[in-house]
Amino acid sequence: TPVLLWLRRDLRLADHPALTAAVATGRPVIPVTILDGEDESARPLGGAARWWLHGSLAALARDLEARGSRLTLRRGPVRPALEALIRETGAEAVLWTRRPGTDEAPLADHLAALGVTARRFGGALLHEPETVRTRQDTPFRVFTPFWKHLQTLEPPPRPRAAPDHIPAPTVWPAGDALADWPLRPEAPDWAGGLRATWTPGEAAARDRLEAFLDEAMAGYDTRRDALADDGTSRLSPHLCFGEIGPRQIWHAVRDRLPSAGAEAFLRELGWREFCHHLLHQHPAMAEAPLQARFARFAWRDDPDGLRAWQRGMTGFPVVDAAMRQLWHTGWMHNRARMIAGSFLVKDLLIDWRAGEHWFWDTLVDACPANNPCSWQWVAGCGADAAPYFRVFNPVLQGETFDPEGAYVRRWVPELASLPSRWIHAPWRAPAPALREAGVRLDETYPAPIVDHAAARTRALAAFADSGSG
Ligand code: FAD
Repeated sequence: TPVLLWLRRDLRLADHPALTAAVATGRPVIPVTILDGEDESARPLGGAARWWLHGSLAALARDLEARGSRLTLRRGPVRPALEALIRETGAEAVLWTRRPGTDEAPLADHLAALGVTARRFGGALLHEPETVRTRQDTPFRVFTPFWKHLQTLEPPPRPRAAPDHIPAPTVWPAGDALADWPLRPEAPDWAGGLRATWTPGEAAARDRLEAFLDEAMAGYDTRRDALADDGTSRLSPHLCFGEIGPRQIWHAVRDRLPSAGAEAFLRELGWREFCHHLLHQHPAMAEAPLQARFARFAWRDDPDGLRAWQRGMTGFPVVDAAMRQLWHTGWMHNRARMIAGSFLVKDLLIDWRAGEHWFWDTLVDACPANNPCSWQWVAGCGADAAPYFRVFNPVLQGETFDPEGAYVRRWVPELASLPSRWIHAPWRAPAPALREAGVRLDETYPAPIVDHAAARTRALAAFADSGSG
């Protein structure tokens, strides 16, 4: 009798404890993935992530075939889909990788009641959330002690290579064709920029890690904040879909220590870990502020402001560049995420959840842990957040992290000819400079939709009024 390997956000063959265990049973292995209703508590995927999933599953199916196996596609909900497969194949066990933030115990109990063994494995994180506790035996709520503690733990196990061969059943169960799943946006061809920017799949993830280690890691500590620089790994969507595991990255980077770049990079991987551990504690993190006093905050209802932000038409060049980079490529630089997020929440006083939802729909790396955790950090309502009164000035942020304006010129071509001096605040440019650059405010490019100084005062007042101060 075969075993089922249920695949979700672990779309790889190397460093895959559930796959290793499935092969070690010596029985035929049936890899299966289930679309939608994925598991009862998971969020439906956003548009950009659906595009990614399509490419990732196609790559995984090819990699499985190269090892004598096959990927079976079934429609959800999960429970009946798994039950049907168990009936059809006589499978005696279901193996899967744990997903932080989803309660999988009821499913495991249900399978046990059917006489089927449910076996759950780690691999999505460096350390399982239950194993990282303070001295008082509570979960960590603050990053720095969490990160220090992580470094005192045994390192995560060294990753295992992909199996050379995966035993196949004599008869494969029926499944859907990937082309029939509603994952690819066809018209308008919104995914054109995604296709031009990314290659989903395990092989591409491995190549990206290698390229980063060779070319950018040494300078990561100094270059990671430069908006126009290609100074970060861009591994986020690959990590999100589990095409590469954090333990693979951890060991590859640790092997190159000491290096300030490597230290700084591992710390960011630590933030990913921290966000996932928080999600494990607070599965409703995308909706509920971690600091309860923010529940009463008087957010503004401003559909025009929200639309201007989403479309990259706020009149603040660095914010608009960020939002357009997101729309075109499904990804945004981390510094830009902080700037654009702060602008929505503090300058426009719009609920962080509206921003979180937009990112969820448009990011290829939309992550149920990192996205709400980071938005709560930006809004000041997270567990270990920037204090609310620290309001980013979008002009100064632009001048500091994009001093030549290269990032703005790339994503806001209307401003491309404006001298660097004015590029982050075109409304301050003298009329002849604007004329020469072909910029007409409110015609070719919007005038700022808010006055930053006044908006800052308004945000601080709202903060004080809500009792959050
Ligand atoms: P690198 O700098 O190369 O970092 C390596 C890896 O570390 C990343 O791939 C990521 O997995 C992790 N990482 C880096 N920075 C952070 C961070 N601040 N918090 C948590 N993990 C981090 N990241 C997501 O993966 N998905 C999201 O949906 C997401 N939403 C965000 C929303 C906002 C408002 C903000 C401010 C940040 C968000 N981040 C999110 C975190 C961060 O911006 C991205 O992980 C990073 O920009 C991805 O690019 P990279 O892979 O080149 O990162």
